[in-house]
Amino acid sequence: MGYRRGFKTHANSVASETRVELQLGPLDRFDPFVLAEYLAVPVIRLADLAKEAPEAARHFLREDEGAFSAVTVFRGSHRVVVYNDAHVPGRQHSDLAHELAHALLRHEAAPAFGDGGCRDWDSDIEDEATFLGAALLVSEEIALDVVRRGRPIREAAHEYGVTPKLMQWRINATGARKRVERGRNYRRSRGSQAA
Ligand SMILES: [Zn+2]
Repeated sequence: MGYRRGFKTHANSVASETRVELQLGPLDRFDPFVLAEYLAVPVIRLADLAKEAPEAARHFLREDEGAFSAVTVFRGSHRVVVYNDAHVPGRQHSDLAHELAHALLRHEAAPAFGDGGCRDWDSDIEDEATFLGAALLVSEEIALDVVRRGRPIREAAHEYGVTPKLMQWRINATGARKRVERGRNYRRSRGSQAA
């Protein structure tokens, strides 16, 4: 997959600006439900939709409940997010962060839904939302901190409310291991020079 030129830098700055707006430090746990509230985007649980609007819920679910993650529904320019609350919390957080990332990146309304909610006809847009969503949940600082302290992925993922898979992906995407290693080598070489 390829991101458009400069996208990652843009996404990282959007992620850190969003943290500042929510008064979160770079190492704080990020709650996408708080971001939804901040952006005034109503969030609806699939279970509630199924109760109140079974037809609509069936539209999103089709046959396979497990395949549905989350979707943004537009009412004019207003967004509403429906998410699958049957998934594990870490998955719900990344699904919701992905949908809100579409809003932060000002992605336009999609004319049609693909399988699993989002528009599968524009994979670049989807990759961008996934990248930013993950960057919101696991900042570069968090990824570096986890590596620096040698924390088990599973434990760190639990603390930050994400799946171990997403935590691992962010550690890879940020190059955290190499960066920490480089820092250690640099300090070691400085140390030996001083001696
Ligand atoms: Zn999407």
